[in-house]
Amino acid sequence: MQYDLHSHSTASDGTLSPTALLHRAAQQGVDALALTDHDTTDGLNEARQAAHTNGIELISGVEISVTWEGVTVHILGLGIDDSNELLQTGLSGLRDFRGWRAQEIARKLEKAGVEEAYAGARKYATGKLISRTHFARYLVECGKAKNVGDVFKKFLVRGKPGHVGGQWAGLEEVVTWIRNACGYAVIAHPARYKMSATRLRKLMQAFKDAGGSGIEVVSGSHGPNDRHNMAQYARQFDLYASTGSDFHGPENPWIELGRLDGLPSNCKPIWTLWD
Ligand code: AMP
Ligand code: MN
Ligand code: MN
Ligand code: MN
Repeated sequence: MQYDLHSHSTASDGTLSPTALLHRAAQQGVDALALTDHDTTDGLNEARQAAHTNGIELISGVEISVTWEGVTVHILGLGIDDSNELLQTGLSGLRDFRGWRAQEIARKLEKAGVEEAYAGARKYATGKLISRTHFARYLVECGKAKNVGDVFKKFLVRGKPGHVGGQWAGLEEVVTWIRNACGYAVIAHPARYKMSATRLRKLMQAFKDAGGSGIEVVSGSHGPNDRHNMAQYARQFDLYASTGSDFHGPENPWIELGRLDGLPSNCKPIWTLWD
């Protein structure tokens, strides 16, 4: 079985519709895909339909934005009941924050000489949610940078002209939303936060204490070394191991669906919780 438990569609900042995403996943040999859009479950109905058509298993998911001790951390909810009211109320609050933040980002970018930044980003945001990725695509269009990664570096991170801080949801709170919706909480791409080993251990302990189930060991944004380290953390904290590409679309060919390495053999796969 080929599992990919982290992916995005046009409901958040991916570039494929849920239908096109499921079709591509099936073509790439994925047997079970989780759609985990940022702070929304809007793509799931279409994805369920497309999963059926393509003979592939869909895991209902979401990737929730959290602020933990001043750092943005992403928590996946896997196997969620997306009709859950507590979860939906929480996600709706995060999207409100995104709406406010987008206006602020646009205002700052305009001061830095980017015209029509809000309308420009909005054009790329076809779902209800707006993200920094949509601004990045517009800035590439305007010729402000050569690619999306470059826009982040030059404009959208701390200390740069289009950066806006703020608070996402709390860690304990988000784990509670996910569990209340009968899902399993997983720390997304833990190696990407660039935390010291001490801080990362503190995060894992807080997450475990809150009722978290697992961490991504294999990830599109992890190297072999990260995978090895995260497998050790998973064992140390008795957390299940997850695997996900974090696919956002075919324009990032280095993160393709269906190309993930297997989990290290000493890990407990997260899917044993529901399979
Ligand atoms: P947001 O949740 O709106 O703050 O945007 C975060 C999203 O931006 C992530 O989910 C990634 O898809 C994207 N992103 C963050 N950093 C980078 C980067 N350096 N290069 C390309 N995309 C990035
Ligand atoms: Mn994203
Ligand atoms: Mn993420
Ligand atoms: Mn993601």
